[in-house]
Formats: sequence, structure tokens, C-alpha cells
Amino acid sequence: MVVDFHTHVPINDNGIFEITPEEFIHKMDQAGIDCSVVLGVDSGIKSDGAEEKTDFTDEKVKEFCAFNPERLIGFASIHPNRPNPLRKVQNAIENLGLKGVKLYPHRGFIPTDPKLWDVYEYCEQSNVILMFHTGIKALQEHRIIFNSPVYIDEIAVSFPKLKIIMCHGGYPWTEEFLTVAYSNPNIIVDITFLEHIEKTFAIPSFAHYFIKRLVNTIGSKRIVWGSEGPKLKLPLFESKDISYFRIKDILVNDNESLKEEEKDDILGNNAIKLLNLQY
Ligand SMILES: [Zn+2]
Repeated sequence: MVVDFHTHVPINDNGIFEITPEEFIHKMDQAGIDCSVVLGVDSGIKSDGAEEKTDFTDEKVKEFCAFNPERLIGFASIHPNRPNPLRKVQNAIENLGLKGVKLYPHRGFIPTDPKLWDVYEYCEQSNVILMFHTGIKALQEHRIIFNSPVYIDEIAVSFPKLKIIMCHGGYPWTEEFLTVAYSNPNIIVDITFLEHIEKTFAIPSFAHYFIKRLVNTIGSKRIVWGSEGPKLKLPLFESKDISYFRIKDILVNDNESLKEEEKDDILGNNAIKLLNLQY
């Protein structure tokens, strides 16, 4: 059982999906992926009061995943500049049936923003998974300082039963990332994008090295992987020819430093438990 815990669906300037759910499922089949988490994107309200058209709204996530709800698991997104963040999240979970919430601090907020506190409380009480982008930013206009994994410690301590996923290894704050994950048992780490960090910043064997350190430090039960999904448009990285499933290849083919059981945990078993999937 393979679960891809981190995918994005590209949306064009007119707010239309650039890949159909049928095509998405087809790609999953080709790659041997049974189930994918499809992440929403909320950039908040712009300074002129307008909505960002390329955002993947909670409603669009629901629409996309409705094609095959067994295999496409939708996550909402929230930005604290919304008039009522808690109400938006409650609507996504209770009315739209989404299973978690993704936050992108580089879009201009500190993860410990008091306006998000009741969202965290709600997610803890309702057993809703919270995911934070950490580390590198995606677009030049983003603010990298808000992506520091150190902020997540404060949330993990304040909400000890909340399940928090920290994404992307936190680069360049990898030691901070490791330390925050080690110190908080309610934190799960996501290793999506490590192979692109390795390539972009020319760090030999970074992905392999960091995954191994994570396994040795926090064990294999608190690690999930993801592909980022098709057609990323991240100008700081690459926009084409992404070796979509390289992390999966690293895990599947690494017989020297990872045990079979550890690979199975990372590739799917941990996600099955987190998402309560019936297989
Ligand atoms: Zn992502």
C-alpha cells in the first residue's frame, strides 16, 4: 500500500484545473500509488481585497477529490487574514468532508499567529491533521522567515494531542527541523521535495543522508513521503521534467540503510494510520 501524502493540482489563471482527476488517477496508477493526499492552497485575501485566482480553494479540493474519494483525500488550507479562520476550517471538515488542513506561512504569517489558535484547538479536539510548509519558499515574493520549523515547537507543545506534519525537511533549517521533530512526539515529518533541494543547492546525497538521519533520530513511524504532484510551477526550482517519484525510488531501492519495514512505514503504513484508511 503506497500513499502519496503531498500533492498539488495546478490551477490556471482562470481558476481551472490543468489536470483532470482522471489523468491524475492515471498517473498514480503508472507510479504504483494507491492513494494521494490532495492539498488545498489559501493565499488569504490580497491587499486590494481580491481573492487569488490560482488558489486551490477548499471547494475545488472537494470537487476534484469527489471523482474518486477512496483514492483522493482532500486537505483544506487556511490563511489567518480570512475574516473567520475557524469557521472556514470547520466548514471544510464538517461540510466538505476534507480530512486535514495545510498552512503556508511564507504567504505572510507567523505559524503562532493568535488568529489561528482556535483553529489549532479545533483540530486537536476533532483529530484533524495539520500540515505546515517549512523551509524553502516557493516564490520570490514569499517570506522565508515564517517558514522556520522552530515556530512549530510552540504549537506542538501547546497542543500535545494535535497531529502536526512538518513538510520538506525545513531546509536550510534542517538541524532545527530534526530537533523540533525529535522533541515533540506529536510531530510527523514529510520528506517531500528533498531530492529537489539536493539538486537545486548541489548537496551530494542530501535526500538519502537526511532520510537516514530522520529514521535514526525519530524512527520510521513518524515519517511520510509525497511526490508534490504533477506540473509544479515553482520558479526557484524547475518547472519541467520533474522526476516526479524520485523519493519513492530512493526508498524502494535503498536496501542498504533502510529495512523493508521502515520503507513500508514511510511509503504507506504511517499514512494509513494517520488518515484512518480502511485497507
Ligand atoms: Zn507542496
